[in-house]
Amino acid sequence: MTSGDDGGELRGRIVTADRVLDDGVISISGDRVGAVTDSAEWAARHPDRALPLFSGTIVPGLVDIHNHGGFGHRFDTTDIAEARAAAEFHHAQGTTTVVASIVTAPADEMVAQVAALRELATAGVVAGIHAEGPFLSEVRCGAQDPRYLLDPDPVLTERLLAAADGWLRVMTLAPERPGFDAVATMLARHGVVVALGHSDAAHPEFRAALAPGGSGTLVTHLANGMPPLHHRAPGPVAAALLAAAARAVTVELIGDGVHIDSGFGALVFATAPQRVALITDAMQAAGMPDGGYRLGPQAVQVTEGVARLPGGTLAGGTATLLRCLRWAVRDCGVPLPEAIRAATVTPAAAAGLSEVGDLRPGMFADALIVDDGFDLPRVLRRGQWLS
Ligand SMILES: [Zn+2]
Repeated sequence: MTSGDDGGELRGRIVTADRVLDDGVISISGDRVGAVTDSAEWAARHPDRALPLFSGTIVPGLVDIHNHGGFGHRFDTTDIAEARAAAEFHHAQGTTTVVASIVTAPADEMVAQVAALRELATAGVVAGIHAEGPFLSEVRCGAQDPRYLLDPDPVLTERLLAAADGWLRVMTLAPERPGFDAVATMLARHGVVVALGHSDAAHPEFRAALAPGGSGTLVTHLANGMPPLHHRAPGPVAAALLAAAARAVTVELIGDGVHIDSGFGALVFATAPQRVALITDAMQAAGMPDGGYRLGPQAVQVTEGVARLPGGTLAGGTATLLRCLRWAVRDCGVPLPEAIRAATVTPAAAAGLSEVGDLRPGMFADALIVDDGFDLPRVLRRGQWLS
């Protein structure tokens, strides 16, 4: 990028969810995209200037709406410096937008964590908060600590909303827990996305909660934390896929190559290509060597990059979102623009983030230069190079 006082230009092959420009120029104005122009047109408009150097393939900065930390740092903390370090690790790896996820913990701790993360959201470091719990199924708790799971509670919900001060973007709930309807309605009224997950609901119940008039618009890590798909008990998975195919909801898919087989990933993309949100579900160990880590109140062991509780249950991911994008393309056979959609536009829309996920005038200037192996990107965030 050439730089000047009011921005600069970035030239390359620009690939977004909706278009491929083989040779284009992105003009940056402060922290925003000013214009995206075909290079020949740019040259015609600027006869007195040389075209910027061609830098390679440029894609929008990635958007991860389900992420618990990385590089040894956690979002489930009241230590703002630690949470900032987790976000900055993911920014440098190409995830320029991160929604900070916290897991089930004692209620007072969750409220304090939300209050701390609110400060980072206000500062633009994270794009908001996702509360994964505590209103989840004990049967399908996964790595959520079952000691602190509760029925949906309006009083606790009110405390979380107050602590977040508008930055609680997503909350995951199990629709079969008593009190779900009242709390889901309350969240929706406050502009919080109601995500369904960690659920043991039967198919009709899950389907009703995703139907028009139901409150759920997002499904938390499809197939993980719910009964498996069975042809005589189609369960939440089939309900979610049907609703996503009808473009009524978005389904999260952990694209780390561990939580989901690539054959199932291919099925999900084929069923609802516009409504898949790739997520990392990353925890503290993302970007770190094997060893002992934590996820909320629980100890986690990472062996060969796979995080598990002592009993063997998977406990979050260790991949970056760029790795998940690569998994979708290489392992699931998803076309690049479609995979980019699942790591940018779709998650941004699902979490109500309107200024990120695409390279259009007025949006944040978040972009990556990637090579053919999706390795070592250069990362532009808010108009500034991070790497
Ligand atoms: Zn999670």
